[in-house]
Formats: sequence, C-alpha cells, structure tokens
Amino acid sequence: MTVDLAAQAAAADDADELAHLRDRFTLPDGVVYLDGNSLGALPAGVPDRVADVVREQWGKGLIGSWFGAGWWEAPERIGDRIAALIGAAPGQVVVGDSTSVNVFRALVMAQRLSGRDEIVVDATTFPTDGYLAESAAKMTGCTLVAAHPRELKLTDRTAAVLLNHVDFRSGELWDMPALTAAIHDAGAYAVWDLSHSAGALPLALDAHGVDFAVGCTYKYLNGGPGAPAYCYVRADLLPRVEQPLPGWCSHGDPFGMEAGYRPATGVTRLRTGTPEVISLLALDAALDVWEGVDLAAVRAKSLALTSFFVECVHALVPAERVTVLTPQARGSQIALACDGAEAVMNALIKAQVVGDYRPPDVLRFGFAPLYLRFADALRAAEVIAQVLA
Ligand SMILES: *Cc1c(COP(=O)(O)O)cnc(C)c1O
Repeated sequence: MTVDLAAQAAAADDADELAHLRDRFTLPDGVVYLDGNSLGALPAGVPDRVADVVREQWGKGLIGSWFGAGWWEAPERIGDRIAALIGAAPGQVVVGDSTSVNVFRALVMAQRLSGRDEIVVDATTFPTDGYLAESAAKMTGCTLVAAHPRELKLTDRTAAVLLNHVDFRSGELWDMPALTAAIHDAGAYAVWDLSHSAGALPLALDAHGVDFAVGCTYKYLNGGPGAPAYCYVRADLLPRVEQPLPGWCSHGDPFGMEAGYRPATGVTRLRTGTPEVISLLALDAALDVWEGVDLAAVRAKSLALTSFFVECVHALVPAERVTVLTPQARGSQIALACDGAEAVMNALIKAQVVGDYRPPDVLRFGFAPLYLRFADALRAAEVIAQVLA
C-alpha cells in the first residue's frame, strides 16, 4: 500500500507545475510543516529586506525615510498588492493593525452605513471575531445574533453579517457569492473574514459584490509573526464609510495638525495611527513569492494535496482512530478528530510533523500549496499512523 502511495506522491510531485515555488522559501530540513495556516513559512527574500529596512532606511535615512523610502504610503501600496490576490481593484484595501481590530472597524462601519440594529455573527467563528462583534454591537446599540452560516437569521433589522470564509476548525469553505447575495437581499452588509482563504484559493471580492472584508497576512500570505492585517471596503461605499478609529493617519491633512477631524478620501480613511513599518515591509517582501503565480493553479494543487492526504490517512491509519471532519467544500486544511488529540499532536511535532491542536479533539493540518509536496502529505500520514499504533 505505502509503495503505491509513494509512487503516486512521486508522480504528483514530478507533474507539479508549482513545485519550483518551494525554492522561494527557507524551510528547515526534515520538517513536514503543516501549520502554514497558522504561521506561514519564511519567504527567502524577507531577511535581507528587513535588514535593509533597519540598517539603511532607518539607520541611515532616519526620519527622511517616511517619504524618501515610501514608508508613509506603504499601507495603501501593499494593500493594492493584497487586493490583486483577493480579486479587488486597487484603492480598496489598506494594511495595518491586527485582524481583530479590523473586524471591529469593519462591523462598526457597516452598522453606521446601515443604521439598523442587529449584527449577525457566524456562530462557529474564530473566537476573536465573536468577541469583537459583541463589543461592536454594544457600542452601536445593536443586538448580537449568533447564527450558523447555513441558517443565517436575517431580518429587516440586520445591519451586518460577519462570516469566516473558511471555518478555522473544520476547514469548511462557505459559499461567498451565495451568502453575500442572501445578505444583500435582506438589505444588510456582508463582512467576510478571509484569514483562512486569502493565498489558498482565488477570491473575487469585487465580482461578488462583497461590502467589507478583513484578513490576516501571516497565514497563507507568509507575512511573518504579527504581520499587519488588511481591510477591504468596496469602492462605492468608501466615500460614505465612517470608521470608529479615526486617527490622524486617516485624516484628510494629517500633517496639518488640525484640531478637527475630517477623513481622507479613498482607502486612506481606513488607517488609524503610525504604520508598523518593519513588519509592513517584511510583508511586502513576502508578497514577492506570488510573482507570476496563478491562484487557480494554487487552488488545484491545494485540493489535490488535501485529497491525497485524506487518501493516505484512510489507507494507513486505522479507521476507528481518526475521523475526517473536513468536507469536500474546503479551504486548504484537513481536520481530523481523534481521542487524546493534544498528546497526539505533541508526539507528531516531536516526530517533525508540525500541525496544530484545537480543542476539544481536533488535529489540524494546513497545506500551503506554494511550498508543500505530495511526499510531505504521505510522510505526515505515515507518522500519524506510527504515533497512533
Ligand atoms: C487567524 C485569525 C484571526 C487572527 O486575528 P489576530 O487579530 O491576528 O490575532 C482572526 N480571525 C480569523 C477568522 C482567523 O482565522
């Protein structure tokens, strides 16, 4: 059985048009890294760029680098690079702050546009989104309604609906165009969290009429630990949005030091304070790995890798030990339910197969298509079988 699977993996790796992209990353030898959905691997160009930013731009350019090295407009410039990866025209994405902060920002903007008094949040959401939705609802005088993506409780009071594109636990992928259309039919705004889909599959925010979106850049976008998140607002809404964190960097004349606030035009009004220059420019360098990469090919490889991994698990791991939780409609991860999952994951990590554990009983394996091989998927299943033996 393993011989067949090994031959299958070798053939798939040989035929993989994206195989060369692995060279754009620095990965430790011997490790099967299946946690790129939590912290993406290090793109090879990042260390030198960060060193240059620190030594040259900061060390020598000093304050002149704000404009001389393009620090000031980096949030919009890098936002446009991310826009290209999520199906958005330029001028609608800004990079800065964490995903958590951007969830809050987007929900409040949506509620203020709408004026209605209910916010619906995905009941299965990554917890931070739920916490921030609760606070956004409280601040805007809304009732918070938890609903499953299959059964959104939309009413004529719904202001905004916050959904995760991919369920962080099971890996299930929700139907963005259909759900966005249903939200619009109810007269509400759709706020999508793309943390587990951007960089793993093609997105078409503009084509699907998405109103607001947020996401983090340190998962499939490989921006590094603490890399700033992004916020998307559809172009026609931008002139009307009023954001809840109107710092000086979002002001129409930030260096005018005016006492009164008036927002900048365009996407700049989504900024708040001084940008995280070093991590922003690390992200900028990290985004170079997407040069010439076709996201449809990334998606095809992701589906092939995850399918092959499931096939290997079924072939090698006794069926009573694990249950595959991830459905066909999925992002780029496979979740397995398993008794004693936490101890199992610790043993896997010790054996150099790095995934992660999510309570109560989930083993999560992320398959970042730019740097993983079919042989890695097989190796992971073999080690899981050994650990569970
Ligand atoms: C990873 C993730 C986050 C992370 O939020 P931070 O503010 O960066 O800690 C938020 N939401 C979802 C859905 C995520 O997957």
